Amino acid sequence: MSATQSDIRLHNVTKRFNELIAVNAANLTVAAGEVVCLLGPSGCGKTTTLRMIAGLDFASDGEITIAGRRVNELPARDRNVAMAFQFYALYPSLTVEENLAYPLHAEGLSRAQIAERIARVAKVLELQSVLKRRPHQLGEGEKQRVAVGRSIVRTPTCFLFDEPLSRLDIQLRQTMRTQIKEVLAHLDKPTVIVTHDQIEALTMADRIAVMRAGRIEQVASPHDLFSRPANLFVAGFIGTPQMNLLPATLLDVAHSAEGGAVARFHLLGEDISAAVDPAAVRLSAGSKVTLGVRPRSFEIVAPDVPDALHSVVDLVEPMGAEMLLHLLEHGTDIRCVVSHTARVAVGEKVGVRCKQGQLHVFDETGVLVQ
Ligand code: ATP
Repeated sequence: MSATQSDIRLHNVTKRFNELIAVNAANLTVAAGEVVCLLGPSGCGKTTTLRMIAGLDFASDGEITIAGRRVNELPARDRNVAMAFQFYALYPSLTVEENLAYPLHAEGLSRAQIAERIARVAKVLELQSVLKRRPHQLGEGEKQRVAVGRSIVRTPTCFLFDEPLSRLDIQLRQTMRTQIKEVLAHLDKPTVIVTHDQIEALTMADRIAVMRAGRIEQVASPHDLFSRPANLFVAGFIGTPQMNLLPATLLDVAHSAEGGAVARFHLLGEDISAAVDPAAVRLSAGSKVTLGVRPRSFEIVAPDVPDALHSVVDLVEPMGAEMLLHLLEHGTDIRCVVSHTARVAVGEKVGVRCKQGQLHVFDETGVLVQ
């Protein structure tokens, strides 16, 4: 089977519940061996998208293919997908081995085939030494690995997980994220994970599909989402603390000698120059734009440094090795993360400047200029 034949494809997939459009013309391809996270606020259509792939809901429009086969009309039982809502719930009276074998009973496999599958999963998840134990004889991490094992022991066409780690405590989540990612990478099947936890998506996904109100706003690698958010929604949604999104007016923009571009903006009552993406030269002088600066892309400088904003430190929030500064300029809160060793005091006047090459410009419609 070729790589393209084992993928999941959504082509203009729409789901209506009476008047409500829960998923709106979604396009997405998930390749074999790839993990894609659907990420977005509550009610944006993540679970509905997953359920349509699984066959638990049927698409109102568009086409879904799994492993090269149109599945729109196929009931869930004929799609051979592995879907898990959460990693928990082991049978307490069964051994680890029996728990792992459980999902295989419906497949009509021989005892030897079942043993072979269990051995494979136990090896990947390092459960060989606990196969004869019952759940109450396992540590929390082991229990979770068995639960993951139960989800992957079959050989389905794809893996679908809905908030798989939502019931776990924070520490276990952290270890599980990396473990699951590692396991999935070896299975060579497409995987879709629904989550509203962006740390989960950023650590587990090869690519993330950010959804809002039924639409997929951007599909990109975690790094690209962070460094090139396609629009204001993605920019504000990805990253903590949230990106500063500051309304400004473009005064002028020109190519620079180094092949980039330099623009002048009127921002919070001041005129500043900054390096921008060369695509910004298409904007006309006087355009209303939004400047996006991540809190870690700002640096505190002396108030007389050119092209800095002049603000007053309004609030200092300690964050361990770093501090989150809230700076006030023309009534606007500017968030800025600096080292905890930085010497700043509430009420102090400071200059704040975006580090070279870290300014995002969004046009009047909220689309990244790139
Ligand atoms: P959450 O993170 O809260 O689970 P979600 O992004 O997974 O949200 P969905 O559960 O897919 O969102 O829901 C998308 C929209 O569709 C919501 O407005 C929801 O109320 C609606 N919806 C979901 N299932 C049904 C249904 N069976 N009948 C009617 N409306 C539904």
